[in-house]
Amino acid sequence: MMSEMKNSTISRDRRVADCIVERLDSFFKDHPRPVELHGPVFDGNEEKYVRECVVTRWVSSAGAFVGKFEQMLAEYTGSPYAVAVTNGTVALHMALLLAGVERGEEVLIPSLTFVATANAVSHAGCIPHLCDVSETTLGLDPVKLSDWLDEIGEKRDGKVFNRLSGRAIGAIMPMHAFGHPVQLDELLEIADKWGIPLVEDAAESLGSFYKGRHTGTISGIAALSFNGNKTVTTGGGGALLIRDAELAKRAKHLTTTAKKPHAYRFIHDDVGYNYRMPNINAALGVAQMENLERFLGRKRQLVEEYKKLFADLADCRLFIEPSYAQSNYWLNCLILQGEQSLFDQACLESIFERLAEKDIQTRPFWEPMHKLPMYEKCPSMPLAVSDSLNSRTVCIPSGPGL
Ligand SMILES: *Cc1c(COP(=O)(O)O)cnc(C)c1O
Repeated sequence: MMSEMKNSTISRDRRVADCIVERLDSFFKDHPRPVELHGPVFDGNEEKYVRECVVTRWVSSAGAFVGKFEQMLAEYTGSPYAVAVTNGTVALHMALLLAGVERGEEVLIPSLTFVATANAVSHAGCIPHLCDVSETTLGLDPVKLSDWLDEIGEKRDGKVFNRLSGRAIGAIMPMHAFGHPVQLDELLEIADKWGIPLVEDAAESLGSFYKGRHTGTISGIAALSFNGNKTVTTGGGGALLIRDAELAKRAKHLTTTAKKPHAYRFIHDDVGYNYRMPNINAALGVAQMENLERFLGRKRQLVEEYKKLFADLADCRLFIEPSYAQSNYWLNCLILQGEQSLFDQACLESIFERLAEKDIQTRPFWEPMHKLPMYEKCPSMPLAVSDSLNSRTVCIPSGPGL
């Protein structure tokens, strides 16, 4: 009886896997190979601006493109300040320092995230405290977070402590997974109730709006990434979005080795960081920002085409932005099966392998942090949805060049 049930499940999972492979293969039949998961597109002023850096020799940490790029980011997102840095991971590190976390504290993050979220917590001398995500947003689940804090949280001396570990909780850092905004109002309410600062990992969500406001502008401190596979790229790069003028000034100071302005003397007044984005990267960024609306339009068009492609496919759901959000659809993903049920892992692997043979790039969700050796012993709440989503998600080609 049990094995019969298992066999019918496997044959169903095999059917779903076959359908996904066939449909993507036929969808991209006339597309040049490889079909990238999210490749960069340089069809604007990229070459012109980068060349300008080389010709004028302004390639490093001073130069007009950095300021221009920051201004474009601030204008587009509606953030009062933007500070460009060398990558998204250091942007997160700096964001945590600005939020006031102290060494030895815990930071609440989703377990189902790219490893940079947890690494930035470690770089700040803190311990990731892993939380579960929601099936409907793919980001931090506010109901579970609230219940968990009620269970383990203890307010004392103006701080919140984890009763189980004895450590203070320094920040909550939600992440907008694949560009889909998390439930910020609910998370902010929890942050306010407990008096814990909220920092957004908006690395994937340039061009994503939460109830009309750009992600990363709602918590007051946030990090963006411009890695090669993100919606807009500077080669490598990141930025901080900051609401408060003093904090923005401090961010700029700390990311430029905490050097005091002086014509020729090198005087530094803090342990600073060499996190400043070079001009040559910002040049690429300025050209990419000029194309952002067009990229987003093309990405939304692709979602509409995918909706049609997968509309009638049972046991498989194309993830659609939450109703309160306008998402950049950084990565489209198919979520297999209904809630909490596991998909046959051999069938899942066969999707990635067969499409790789056809040079169509797909990949699973990240391995959750609690499955990685350096984070497996981190404090955590039960992580059933993170595990489940990890076992049945297929990310499919999503770049603006498709
Ligand atoms: C890309 C990304 C980052 C930052 O990555 P960098 O490669 O350092 O720019 C951080 N968090 C998430 C969730 C990301 O996807």
